[in-house]
Amino acid sequence: MDIKYISTRDKNKKVTASQAILKGLSDEGGLFIPEKLPEIALDFKALSTMTYQEVAHIVLKAFLTDFSEEELRYCINSAYDKKFANENIAPLVKHGNRYFLELFHGQTLAFKDMALSILPYLLTTAAAKNKMDKDIVILTATSGDTGKAAMAGFADVPRTKIIVFYPKNGVSNFQEKQMLTQKGDNTYVVSINGNFDDAQRNVKKMFNDLTLKNKLASHDMAFSSANSINVGRLVPQIVYYVYAYAQLVAAKEIAIGEEINFSVPTGNFGNILAAYYAKEIGVPISQLICASNKNNVLTDFFKEGFYDKNRPFFVTNSPSMDILISSNLERLVYYLTGNSSKVTVELMTALEEKGKYELSSDMKEKLGEFYADYAEEEEVSAAIKQVYEDSSYVIDPHTAVAAKAADTYHAATEDTLKTVIVSTASPFKFPEAVVQAIAPEKLTTVEDDLVDNLAELAHSTVPQSVLDVRQAPILHQTSIKTEEMQRTVESILNIH
Ligand SMILES: *Cc1c(COP(=O)(O)O)cnc(C)c1O
Repeated sequence: MDIKYISTRDKNKKVTASQAILKGLSDEGGLFIPEKLPEIALDFKALSTMTYQEVAHIVLKAFLTDFSEEELRYCINSAYDKKFANENIAPLVKHGNRYFLELFHGQTLAFKDMALSILPYLLTTAAAKNKMDKDIVILTATSGDTGKAAMAGFADVPRTKIIVFYPKNGVSNFQEKQMLTQKGDNTYVVSINGNFDDAQRNVKKMFNDLTLKNKLASHDMAFSSANSINVGRLVPQIVYYVYAYAQLVAAKEIAIGEEINFSVPTGNFGNILAAYYAKEIGVPISQLICASNKNNVLTDFFKEGFYDKNRPFFVTNSPSMDILISSNLERLVYYLTGNSSKVTVELMTALEEKGKYELSSDMKEKLGEFYADYAEEEEVSAAIKQVYEDSSYVIDPHTAVAAKAADTYHAATEDTLKTVIVSTASPFKFPEAVVQAIAPEKLTTVEDDLVDNLAELAHSTVPQSVLDVRQAPILHQTSIKTEEMQRTVESILNIH
């Protein structure tokens, strides 16, 4: 079956999977979605004996139908290899009576690695298929995590360059060191004296600058983005939901066909949307629990059918979920409208102009497969502590948000189905918040000691990628003024 991709804002625009990956966004600003869902026979008896890479092949082949078997194999094997510290890539573990899907064994210790490690290969393969004979230049503004994960993914991938801008005073010391020690001759990290929004705005400006675009083209280069709305990030995320179910079957924790729930720590709505697609293609999933931190715009959306970003923005201890506009939600909205591009455009225009929109009562009725809940900061710490007391297992603040939501859900509904908590970051990425929650007497301002204390509490060793960053030499040191971003790009690319 051949699957084309259409835009949420104009369903007559049809492109192939590889074109959708190359384009990122559709020209009129819509997001690409599969025109119809692939029919995959999910045989969980067979799936439960397969490796992550084999499951990935089945899922990717069904969605990315213009890629050949060989191309997919090359992308999958290049992405999911020794870079991951666990050979199962996304292991499902049971601690006490809770299940966790650990998505943090990649190079940057967070779930972004699951998709950003394969995106560079999907992108370069898509470029070759579409006879785009140009080198791809990825421009990214980051507040810490995405930039590093994207660089780790693109490092030394032939025919690509990646340039990351970050606010000098807007990322943690560990995040900065992670970026500044990044290897790869094609990676460039630049700090600016402005904030994240300044970085983001100037990156967007460069993307839309026609003169710059032509200048690049005359040097056989083209900009692309590693944004979370890219189909090349969404589809690889569906894989681990299929794999999670297969692992539960393999461990005899569930019978084939038995429904389960997933609780997903949510920001941009990319991860949980992949779970939604997994359900749509036949993984036996009952409820999708959308877990937010104090920035709970999605909790209100699912409870009341009203999206309103006009509210205070909180900086929390789960920073990767500090988001007021969840860009991937547009895809769900399109389905809620009964596949109407017209209504989707109306709602998204209201969001752009007024910062809010309300669903019709028909649309609200379709929200039932999602349960939403959020955690205040103290509840995040309490959840970290509770899980540790129950099972000596240490979770990070993002995962704790999902654990809290799962507990609230079971208490509120008496649902007895098993719930898998999606673990999006290693606790070693947020040692301070975690030690504070479990054993405040072990807090210290010496970062390396803090990490060692955490390892002791977790009865584990410090992850290799944390040790690597400790010892690695600083390889980047460009620091500029915000106004110099474009000049810096031109100089890096040698296109003055
Ligand atoms: C990005 C991120 C999230 C949120 O995922 P979305 O796909 O944006 O909803 C949650 N936890 C961590 C650690 C992340 O990096």
